[in-house]
Amino acid sequence: MSVHFENIAFRYPAGGAGVEDIDLSIGDGELLAVIGPSGSGKTTLLRLLAGFLIPDRGRILIDGRDVARVPVKERGLGVVFQAYALFPHMTAADNVAYPLKLRGVGRGARAAKAAEALAKVGLDGFGVRLPASLSGGQQQRVALARALVFDPRALLLDEPLSALDAGLRAGMRDEILRVQRAAGIATLFVTHDQEEALSMADRVAVLKDGRLLQVDTPRALYERPASHAVAGFVGHANLWPGTVTGADLVTTPIGRLTTATVGHAPGAAVTVLVRPEDVVAAPAPDAPNLIAGRIVADRFLGSLRRLDLSVAGGLVMVETRRRDAVEAIAIPPEAIRLLPGGR
Ligand code: ADP
Ligand code: MG
Repeated sequence: MSVHFENIAFRYPAGGAGVEDIDLSIGDGELLAVIGPSGSGKTTLLRLLAGFLIPDRGRILIDGRDVARVPVKERGLGVVFQAYALFPHMTAADNVAYPLKLRGVGRGARAAKAAEALAKVGLDGFGVRLPASLSGGQQQRVALARALVFDPRALLLDEPLSALDAGLRAGMRDEILRVQRAAGIATLFVTHDQEEALSMADRVAVLKDGRLLQVDTPRALYERPASHAVAGFVGHANLWPGTVTGADLVTTPIGRLTTATVGHAPGAAVTVLVRPEDVVAAPAPDAPNLIAGRIVADRFLGSLRRLDLSVAGGLVMVETRRRDAVEAIAIPPEAIRLLPGGR
């Protein structure tokens, strides 16, 4: 089962915002995460695939068939919303069995299937409980079981973990991934949490203002962001405007930095990306790109420390495990990535 968005455009009649120029595919068994700031069009994309919105232009193919105008019910997709939308007066088992009831499955078969789906999400024996007597994480799993019970052709998840507290969220990531892998179905996972996307997805699509900026594996997105916007949204980043001023030399507000400039003409405007974990907090005196500075923010984050170092010309964000004072940093030439264009 695969999904293809082909040149999809949609505008809300009221506002005008929506999505535009969307070309995107989800492979068989693939978990594709869609990330982007609030209002970037993530939910719109999911609702287009689910069938709650009809595109103005383009095709949505499921296994090669255009479903853009096929009613919601006939698409056979499992959907989990941000608020789990369980029926409060129905037991967990009845909630899970509901999609089967809609499809005319008999009572006995429904009960058996629902029990099986609940077991799959680790809720064996919870079928008799009402939603109000379940924790957030358990309600979330009931919603997941309900989305999976009819063997959907694809799974659509819209910020399914955002209502959970931080502790539960990490566990549920593993849980969702386990269930998704076991079911082996194409999954569209919408989140505003880039860490969630990087840790779970096979590929990540970055949306901004209704347009796709980049679609790549988590590692490629982090290590080779295509633009300033992607680099800034995915992970923490130092980003400076720069000019290529010579062979292996880039001039930035924080000074001239040595790095490979292959592929960039002399005089070219670039964006200079350095991840904070690549900045060296206790450099050798002869290290390249050595810069003196003063700590202006010092955040203890448990496993590491995130510093803002004030240097001549700007700030450098540094992540280090060192506990001592930092008075200079070095930026290894190979840690510098040049992105096309200034800001
Ligand atoms: P996200 O899920 O990424 O936060 P949405 O897809 O919900 O973003 O929204 C994308 C854009 O469309 C936003 O600018 C939002 O304000 C607008 N929008 C969303 N729903 C509607 C609606 N029902 N009517 C008009 N505009 C909407
Ligand atoms: Mg949304």
